Amino acid sequence: MDSLVDVWPTPRAAYLHVPFCRHRCGYCNFSVVADRDDLIERYLKAIDKELRILGRPVVDTLFVGGGTPTHFDIKTLDRFLGMVGQRFQLADAGEWTMEANPEDITSEKITLLAEYGVNRISLGVQSFNPNKLALLERGHSAQVATAAVELAAEVIGNVSIDLIFAAPGETLADWLTDLELAIQLPLQHLSTYALTFEKGTRFWSRRERGDLQSPTESCEVDMYQRTRQVLAESLFKHYEISSFAKSDARCRHNLAYWQGCGWYAAGPGAARFVEGKREVNHRSTTTYLRRMESGQCPTAETEKITREQYARERAAFGVRMIDGIDLDVLTSETGISIAEICSDSIGLSISEGLVEVPSPHWIKLSERGILFADTVASRLLG
Ligand code: SF4
Repeated sequence: MDSLVDVWPTPRAAYLHVPFCRHRCGYCNFSVVADRDDLIERYLKAIDKELRILGRPVVDTLFVGGGTPTHFDIKTLDRFLGMVGQRFQLADAGEWTMEANPEDITSEKITLLAEYGVNRISLGVQSFNPNKLALLERGHSAQVATAAVELAAEVIGNVSIDLIFAAPGETLADWLTDLELAIQLPLQHLSTYALTFEKGTRFWSRRERGDLQSPTESCEVDMYQRTRQVLAESLFKHYEISSFAKSDARCRHNLAYWQGCGWYAAGPGAARFVEGKREVNHRSTTTYLRRMESGQCPTAETEKITREQYARERAAFGVRMIDGIDLDVLTSETGISIAEICSDSIGLSISEGLVEVPSPHWIKLSERGILFADTVASRLLG
């Protein structure tokens, strides 16, 4: 065990955060600046400076998220992609994902992304229903979203979309219509999330005032269960609580997070895990810029992770994978036996029918446990 104490996986994944959006959606609590294109030039210089320190590492996955990375105009996007391409060496057959807003997708931008080697697009579609899109304060229509998916599929091939369910006023029938429209599109991957009301967002205040109401919990559960059924029938394999993929189109970058591999991260609010340290950059874009410009470190928080924390976190994230986790592999890779240190919490989850043991040293969520993944995961964290 001691020999593992200072041995951490060298990151083979990198996340870059682009904070710009046209408008801040009412439910969003990401690190975002809306309508501040005047900061773009400073951002490009700052993130390039932050990345230069890494020394051009080889990575298997690059994920550019936000915010809206495709918010840049075509010339700026060209410069940004060129800079990212210079600062990393993407391994052969590496995965380069860009998040994108359907509103921004043009043939020119998609072609540019493909030319730089972007080979996966994750589109923030959220819904095809005009009322729901308006409620979520999204600027695109169903037609624009559909056209964006089709264009991205034609040029880039590997397209994922995000869909939100359990929005205020949404019925099960509304949600099934969204799903039916989604499965007719040329998608390889789908992520679905129940709408959450985060403190500090306009949606939170609106719910406090009684202006917005979520569907009931049982309706939310029905929506989720029907999602699993509908997507399974359309050959999307449910591989993580919120993620569904066709054949081998699982998101390799997210797998790196869930499997506890290290990752680099840069940009406002970006969180990294390198050499056993979790670090988070300042969330405020202006603070991030000021710190980078004055030669200060962009990091707001640093936490040195113990081996036990590492093993617990790997178990907690790993158990959200539908196939579950091999506890022997976890022990050999972390030096900590989760089966021993979490025997009570695993036992409790088994006794409550939330966790199954399909083979010795292997645990996975039961059908019922899939609905209580957060409970099981938090017990593993101790
Ligand atoms: S587009 Fe996405 S990142 Fe931007 S404000 Fe809306 S939800 Fe947040």
